[in-house]
Amino acid sequence: MKGNDRRKIVLVGTGMVGTSYAYALLNQNLCDELVLIDINQKKAEGEAMDLNHGVPFSGGNMEIYAGEYTDCHDADMVVLTAGLPQKEGQSRLDLLRENRKVFHTILESVLESGFHGIFLVATNPVDLMARIVYEISGFPPGKVIGTGTALDTARLRYLLGEKFMIDPRNMHAYVMGEHGDSEFVPWSQAMMATKPIFELCSETEGCHFQELLEVEEEVRMAAYKIIEAKKATYYGIGMAMARITKAIFGNEHSVLTVSAMLQGEYGEKDIFIGVPCVVNRLGIARIIECTLGPEEKNRLHLSCETLSQTYQEL
Ligand code: NAD
Repeated sequence: MKGNDRRKIVLVGTGMVGTSYAYALLNQNLCDELVLIDINQKKAEGEAMDLNHGVPFSGGNMEIYAGEYTDCHDADMVVLTAGLPQKEGQSRLDLLRENRKVFHTILESVLESGFHGIFLVATNPVDLMARIVYEISGFPPGKVIGTGTALDTARLRYLLGEKFMIDPRNMHAYVMGEHGDSEFVPWSQAMMATKPIFELCSETEGCHFQELLEVEEEVRMAAYKIIEAKKATYYGIGMAMARITKAIFGNEHSVLTVSAMLQGEYGEKDIFIGVPCVVNRLGIARIIECTLGPEEKNRLHLSCETLSQTYQEL
């Protein structure tokens, strides 16, 4: 039985995304105990061995092992990266049917263990997979977090940083909506430090709004481009998941664009979608309602519609 102060994570799915996350956790010393589970048990065992050989070079003393679903009973977080990845030319929504089946079997075992911590979901289509976890588990909505547009937001900040030669951490811009084709950037809310991006753009020689829209499109197409080049994306999402984990264990109250259940915010209900949220030790403490312009509101609504429709078809 672990002590109360030990931070324990069970990671289900030790594929590219799962192991990139595990590697980020190890490098940043973000937990004390990391349990790896995969349907391919040998793979989980091999990954645990490999990661353990990095422990002497890490700043901590993480305990890493391949385990069982019963290990979830006292875990603080169960992190889900199991399932089929997106293939070339395939949309994230195409994956839904297959990955729902995978989650049904996994969640049955996780819940049987008596787990009562926080779920972090990265498997795609992540907004709908988070909703599935919420519905099967019956957990409070704040305890089910999808990675949402956390990665897309990082991609946006990186590109804006490059464009304006500014540290991406000072680019306070968000990608909102579905982690997928209907996501969008509410440009009216985008700032460089305290200066609106519109103003920054107009002061920059040769910058036009059209170029910001091109950046937005580049963010939207990033996954397709990476998959075409190297079959899968994993480092960025692994780091995004580590960032969310840090916000949880550090009780940071950090604002992150994760997939959260809307309950009247933005005029939407009962849908998981990427919106800026305050994340702390309890999970999603609250959803931040940005002051969106009418067109931005409409885009969020259309993104919610896209997700709802696909879910209903299921
Ligand atoms: P992968 O194929 O490398 O890994 C998936 C792992 O899940 C495999 O090791 C497989 O054995 C395991 N698995 C399958 N069924 C299982 C089950 N029933 N129980 C336990 N383990 C099971 O795929 P990947 O590249 O790691 O991608 C994983 C998921 O993450 C995909 O759905 C992908 O689309 C998604 N993803 C999400 C984001 C995001 O921003 N949220 C980014 C990249 C990828």
